Amino acid sequence: MDTKPPSPPHVVIFPFPAQGHVNSMLKLTELLLEASLNITFLISAKDHDRLARFTTVHSHLNSYSGHFRFHVIHGLYEGPMVTEEQQSLIMAESLPKVVGPLLRNLLLDSQVTCLIADGFTDFPLDAAQGTGVPVISFRTISACAFWAYFSVPELIESGDLPIQGTNLDERILSLKGMEGFLRRRDLPSFCRSDINNKIFQQITRISRRTTEAHALLINTFDDLEGPIISQIQQHCPNIYTIGPLHAHLKARTSSKTTSSNSLFEEDKTCITWLDQKAPKSVLYVSFGSLATVTREQLMEFWYGLVNSGKLFLWVIREDLVLKQDDENKVPIELEEGTKERGYMVGWAPQEEVLAHPAVGAFLTHNGWNSTLESIVEGVPMISWPYFADQQINSRFVEAVWKLGLDMKDTCDRTIIEKTIKEVMEERKMEFIESANRMARLAKESINEGGSSYGNLNRLVEDIKMMGIGSK
Ligand code: UDP
Repeated sequence: MDTKPPSPPHVVIFPFPAQGHVNSMLKLTELLLEASLNITFLISAKDHDRLARFTTVHSHLNSYSGHFRFHVIHGLYEGPMVTEEQQSLIMAESLPKVVGPLLRNLLLDSQVTCLIADGFTDFPLDAAQGTGVPVISFRTISACAFWAYFSVPELIESGDLPIQGTNLDERILSLKGMEGFLRRRDLPSFCRSDINNKIFQQITRISRRTTEAHALLINTFDDLEGPIISQIQQHCPNIYTIGPLHAHLKARTSSKTTSSNSLFEEDKTCITWLDQKAPKSVLYVSFGSLATVTREQLMEFWYGLVNSGKLFLWVIREDLVLKQDDENKVPIELEEGTKERGYMVGWAPQEEVLAHPAVGAFLTHNGWNSTLESIVEGVPMISWPYFADQQINSRFVEAVWKLGLDMKDTCDRTIIEKTIKEVMEERKMEFIESANRMARLAKESINEGGSSYGNLNRLVEDIKMMGIGSK
């Protein structure tokens, strides 16, 4: 008789190779390790190396004695991914070519219970076909953004797409659940392109194929996006909303510290700088890991920040500014204003920064991780979306959740100054109150009895049942 205890279910996790995706999928990984599952995490050689250099994630995950391993992918495209064109190229070519066969062999050769694959790509669905391994699609964007991506065929049918004329303020009435507040300018950025273009077609196809997955995982919580989740559920009935993942992980591992998962080197001196500042006095400014600005836009932001008279902590990534060569002289008034009230870093420990009592507002591009991190800490937002899902996230921030103001499609020093003053002075209490309310709901969702807490338990149980079914 075989007395060996059954081995835990084995989950293979594949994120799209970019900061926001790798970060949230590593958080999910650790939550599943906490639930005693075995995990193989596919990662590009470049990201693997960066995590080793800039974080403690390797030793951290290895502490789950033998239950975790990285599977390093060599030969992936490693160029820039700052435009939708560049992202599209890696999605359509490099990933399916390199990761597709690798994934298929893994699913065929090892005892894999299920595959949790980034829903930003669809080739994992093809790789898993015929292997008997269920695929759970993980969308690292908001439910509202996913629902907009998913609804593109309906938007075309109703005539809302392609956008006719130049009036971006015209209402969109055919996106269910968003009829009262969505404008053309709030649609995901690719909706402004020709509907026959390759990226447009690719994103639409991939989003629609989510219905082929066994289930859909979203890094959100029901009190934030309940009505939209109900819309998605009509097409993808098995949804697990288990976010905000970073806070969920902290709540379930209260005795341990969590890893930052940064692919860039964090400059922690900004925490010492923040330590000396009054509560809620500092504006934190960051546009995430991919967004770029022109030299002109940089100057508008810089003047807006300095002229607002507020203290500011600004993340200027090495590659944030396009074409820096020609005009690099900084006007004296900016230099002095920055010396007096500003602090700049190449990359910040963002979760720690947003949790710092000195931070009063966040000027953000509304990448989904940044948005959730701000929500959890009750920090009001000023939105300047760059691309993709960020356009719709920022609309929800202002018009639905009332957590801040949206500056999309403008980049003007006077507007920037005025918006900062509105959020940090004139309407400060109003925004702080709604941000505190949402932060409380976020925390309730991940604590015992909360929706995300229950959904994660359900996910783990469902994965365990898949394991039994396949033996
Ligand atoms: N981030 C950070 N330090 C920074 C800027 C960003 O740690 O200086 C992290 C941030 O906490 C978030 C991620 O990078 O988890 C960015 O992801 P997001 O989805 O917000 O935007 P993306 O980079 O994908 O555009």
